[in-house]
Amino acid sequence: MRFIRAFCLIIAIFLLAQNAQAQKSVYTTNDSIFVKSIFNEALLRGHSYSRLGELCKQIGARLSGSDAAEKGIIWAMNMLNSYQFDSVYKQNVLVPRWQRGTADKIEFQSPLLNTLIKQKNTFSQVQNNIAKNAFPNSPNALYECDQFLKENQQIKSWYSLPACALGGSIDGNVKAKVISVNSKKQLDELGKIGALKNKIVLLNQPMDEALLNTFSAYGGCVSQRVQGANWCAPFGALAVLVRSVSHKCDLHPHTGVTHYEDSIKKIPMVAVATAAADIIDYLCKNDPNFYLSIQLNCKTLPDRMSANVIAETKGIKNPKKVIVFGGHFDSWDQGEGAHDDGAGCMHAFEALRILKALGYQPKHTLRCVFWINEENGLRGGNEYAKLTHENGDIHIAALESDRGGFTPRGFGIDTSILPRIKVFQSLLDQFGIGTLENGGGGADIGPIKKYNTNTAFISFIPDSQRYFDVHHAETDVFESVNKRELELGSAAIAAMIYILDQQLD
Ligand SMILES: [Zn+2]
Repeated sequence: MRFIRAFCLIIAIFLLAQNAQAQKSVYTTNDSIFVKSIFNEALLRGHSYSRLGELCKQIGARLSGSDAAEKGIIWAMNMLNSYQFDSVYKQNVLVPRWQRGTADKIEFQSPLLNTLIKQKNTFSQVQNNIAKNAFPNSPNALYECDQFLKENQQIKSWYSLPACALGGSIDGNVKAKVISVNSKKQLDELGKIGALKNKIVLLNQPMDEALLNTFSAYGGCVSQRVQGANWCAPFGALAVLVRSVSHKCDLHPHTGVTHYEDSIKKIPMVAVATAAADIIDYLCKNDPNFYLSIQLNCKTLPDRMSANVIAETKGIKNPKKVIVFGGHFDSWDQGEGAHDDGAGCMHAFEALRILKALGYQPKHTLRCVFWINEENGLRGGNEYAKLTHENGDIHIAALESDRGGFTPRGFGIDTSILPRIKVFQSLLDQFGIGTLENGGGGADIGPIKKYNTNTAFISFIPDSQRYFDVHHAETDVFESVNKRELELGSAAIAAMIYILDQQLD
């Protein structure tokens, strides 16, 4: 009996010692030196910015199922192969294929605007008339209205405004009067009295400017883009215009996915720039003869085989245990998918490169993934979770970067591991990345939950104030990414992966 008790005690001490070795309760000088060397490597010899430049300028936009996305995957495989990681490979993923037409167009007729131009006959007076009413709260509204009116100083029978089909929209030609609404509640009230019948509906709810977390503001109004057709079609609306989900008052429409429920009649779904939405809102409320026409010729083609792209460094202690990190490789077809999410892919690749360049030998397998089809299907994330489960991989942690290449602030961390990460709090604070929020996750890593109940989910959190200025718009180009901000993000992610590798079993 005494022998058994002594034996158990020895085992317990051994396990405690093992645990103490695996999980630090304080970070060491070596940790400090190593994290500093990660930042030095990113800032002095970084590859993320130049690689993002290649991706944006040689490939450009990478909508799932497009030729450009496939060309991009070849580029990514060649790029990753040039670094001699332990392995670089693809996972086949069948993706949907929606194609924008050549002529997304919205135009309007407005006797009121004609009168303003004729009566006042000077550009600044017309500008004041519209701008003051249409943009009461937007500081840059005069400038944006200026842009619009500069092109419209002559009376025209049709004035055009910048707009683009939302992803997944059907094609169509519609001409009708417009009704503008600011909320779902207002929409339902008007719908019930028949006011939406045979109209084009403008869903004009703006982002809540008071919210510091811009992702919360996005979450507060993006449903009008995703659900707009399902809300409006049952009330007899002919088409929907959706105010771009952006803080910026400008003339660039922001696209994004829209969804049709099987039960509804499909109607065209169009994104209009914020300034264009304000102009339409003002004119449709003040001009009884305001008409708008929509012309879309987008289409959905059969699915196409595409791929997730993966690079990894094998773990020396537990190769079957994986720390996965990445971003999504596909983008919308506007702009170059620079912040969304070329930046996230380059963060992940660079984190893997930095750790290899510093000679770090991870305990667990470090896996960088460029997921395909996050924007309009999530097929890449779903297929990844399924295939790795079939392969017997155990995900101990999954980190996603899909909030742009802006200055890193910290991470959202799974509650279960937060205390172990907080051990490094003061070290992370030294690099400006000490914001450790409770709870993490991401669209592409989400499906891993189906198969791994113990995975710790982490989201990368950069500054969010400028993200929605360019999100899903033609302005999301390489030039909108700052070199140092991107490099700091890569270093932050490399540091977090190092900490996860040290602190998790
Ligand atoms: Zn994204």
